[in-house]
Amino acid sequence: MSTFSVAIDGPSGAGKSTIARAVASEFSFLYVDTGAIYRTVGLAVRRAGVGSRDAEAVRALLPELKIDLRYGEDGAQRMFLAGEDVSDEIRTPEISIYASDVSAFAFVREYLMEMQRSLARTYDVIMDGRDIGTVVLPDATLKIFLTASAEARAERRWKELLEKGQTVTFEEVLRDMEYRDRNDSSREAAPLKAAEDAIVVDTTELNFEESCEKVKELIRERMKK
Ligand code: C5P
Repeated sequence: MSTFSVAIDGPSGAGKSTIARAVASEFSFLYVDTGAIYRTVGLAVRRAGVGSRDAEAVRALLPELKIDLRYGEDGAQRMFLAGEDVSDEIRTPEISIYASDVSAFAFVREYLMEMQRSLARTYDVIMDGRDIGTVVLPDATLKIFLTASAEARAERRWKELLEKGQTVTFEEVLRDMEYRDRNDSSREAAPLKAAEDAIVVDTTELNFEESCEKVKELIRERMKK
């Protein structure tokens, strides 16, 4: 029996992860946050004291990495680096930049490919990232490109960070967002772009519930076919 897979791609802060997580639990799909996997590589590079744009040093580090993705009893995805739960540590703005930098290397993307594909072969998934519909799961059952204006995305991410007790300014978050947008869209290896057969959902004017409803509607429609 083949699995049902929903690919959700889009720029940072478009609401992919919160929307995907909520919708996945409603349909009992596994939610796979691929950004967290790249962040874990970013953290490993940071801890090794290696420059995130130093291709040879990053390449040399990969064979030693032990990255695991596990699901807690609450269904939440946790990331482990050499057996240590780093799920919270990977969420800082500094690690966002490391993740964005290392993800531009084709060999890093290749290294993480099988981990992502095997999950989609085994489970019904909602997988979010930047290249899920274009590269990782080109045959996904449904592809959604979730986007919003840079200001709206920065504002949401900023509020999220404040709630977590991090002290950052809106300008810093907007700058990081624009840096990552540029990096993610202009890189040669799997740049951020909508797959030709993706449905674009712009959430600038939608609240969380409306965005979830839109995605659920698309899934229900696809299930009927
Ligand atoms: O989604 P999130 O913001 O956590 O991702 C962190 C970084 O990882 C992104 O800025 C992007 O550069 C990279 N990424 C990627 N491909 C994915 C998921 C994330 O290049 N599928």
